[in-house]
Amino acid sequence: MFSRVLIANRGEIAVRIIRACKELGIKTISVYSTADKESLHVKLADEAVCIGAASAAQSYLNISNIIAAAQNTAAEAIHPGYGFLAESSYFADLCRTNNIKFIGPDPEVIYLMGDKVKARGIAMKAEVPLVPGSEGALNSYQEAAMLAREIGYPVMIKASAGGGGRGMRLAHNEESLKESMEMARMEAGAAFGNDEIYIEKYIEEPRHIEIQILGDQYGNIIHLGERDCSLQRRNQKLLEEAPSTLLDKDLREKMGNMAVNIARAANYHSAGTVEFLVDKQKNYYFIEMNTRVQVEHPVSEMVSGVDIVKEQIRIAAGEALGYSQEDIEIRGWAMECRINAEDPQNDFCPSPGTIGQYLIPGGPGVRVDSAAYSGYTIPPYYDSMIAKLIVWGQSRDEVISRMKRALREFQIENVKSTIPFHLRVLDNAFFRRGEVYTNFIQRRMTERFHE
Ligand code: ADP
Ligand code: ADP
Ligand code: MG
Repeated sequence: MFSRVLIANRGEIAVRIIRACKELGIKTISVYSTADKESLHVKLADEAVCIGAASAAQSYLNISNIIAAAQNTAAEAIHPGYGFLAESSYFADLCRTNNIKFIGPDPEVIYLMGDKVKARGIAMKAEVPLVPGSEGALNSYQEAAMLAREIGYPVMIKASAGGGGRGMRLAHNEESLKESMEMARMEAGAAFGNDEIYIEKYIEEPRHIEIQILGDQYGNIIHLGERDCSLQRRNQKLLEEAPSTLLDKDLREKMGNMAVNIARAANYHSAGTVEFLVDKQKNYYFIEMNTRVQVEHPVSEMVSGVDIVKEQIRIAAGEALGYSQEDIEIRGWAMECRINAEDPQNDFCPSPGTIGQYLIPGGPGVRVDSAAYSGYTIPPYYDSMIAKLIVWGQSRDEVISRMKRALREFQIENVKSTIPFHLRVLDNAFFRRGEVYTNFIQRRMTERFHE
């Protein structure tokens, strides 16, 4: 096992990784920007190194400073968390060159699966159904128009390098296709430095169902069941749960096996997530694979009892998975609400600032993953998540009551948060019946907002 690990991230995920390391007896080294001097991930780590100015480009994306920090502190491994450098094959490769273990899959695999067009190729090879669409990247409008006519409108134009719900455009007909393509290309180029785009059939009112997988370096790959992340705003997840109200044992097993097959075809090790859309007829289609720990990983931890971050670290250190698929048992229900510093009454406008009193909920089945505290100032430079509130219960009904109770206990003074919005979702009759799909918020939450 490693004795020293550097965490190349910030916020709640850095704290989450520090906790896993401590339980494994590993010394932790945090890196931080000048804006994060007072951050919890700095306070909780054994050592901390300042790597640059506030902007992410100068700090959490500053590869040379991060590698230097690892070398100067004799770190044997780097955990990248999610976002920032987590899906940079270049960074993973540079770690390898410098004899530092990157806690994640091999750079070649990140390169392959991080490119959505290439990943579609792998899924096809693994005989997993894909959303109908391009076989390669789009070269011209003519090519796109032909393909769209074949698969039928509406279609989605997506960025090969896309992530975080960005670089995606809907086209309802041939007239709007050209403009959507141009917009998607521009957005992708600006956001990801890569303007390659492809086309997919638009699946109407789908569920977003993803499978958590774990694989070691010896070819053992298992899955921890699904997460239902259908509750989204602008293609970004807001609330996730496991299991899904849609899946039965049969479909769970089928999709689980498909995810494992994709991971096997990609030569995957570490934790990873295979994302699918599922339509009304319960047809499932691969959309992408995330080669990192996911924001919503705690939901799977709560129902499976597996510590996904510790497993990532053990796998990177060369340990074999100590169990097989038959040993995994999904117990009860879990749900996560992403509590963002955003004002739901004002179009989810970011609401950074200094938190006054910060009082987190507790009691049976409640977990809070957060890097905030009373008096903490949320910097405007990074994402707006304050906390993840995760709740476990025997049944979905118990989880919903418990989540409402916990959300009401949660006090975050002085900044606006998404707590009131989550409370409304949990009271929505369609949500309570488990009728969720990716356009749920547009379709079911349009009535005027009253607190
Ligand atoms: P998850 O799939 O784990 O729910 P999100 O899609 O919410 O994750 O993304 C997690 C974090 O990573 C967010 O801060 C998001 O903005 C960032 N992110 C994801 N993909 C990319 C990407 N390709 N480029 C830049 N940032 C990304
Ligand atoms: P990202 O890398 O940004 O997470 P994904 O490919 O995972 O992108 O898609 C994010 C979300 O966008 C999905 O969960 C879904 O809500 C929506 N989406 C993506 N592709 C399609 C599609 N072909 N049809 C309908 N919705 C889609
Ligand atoms: Mg995705």
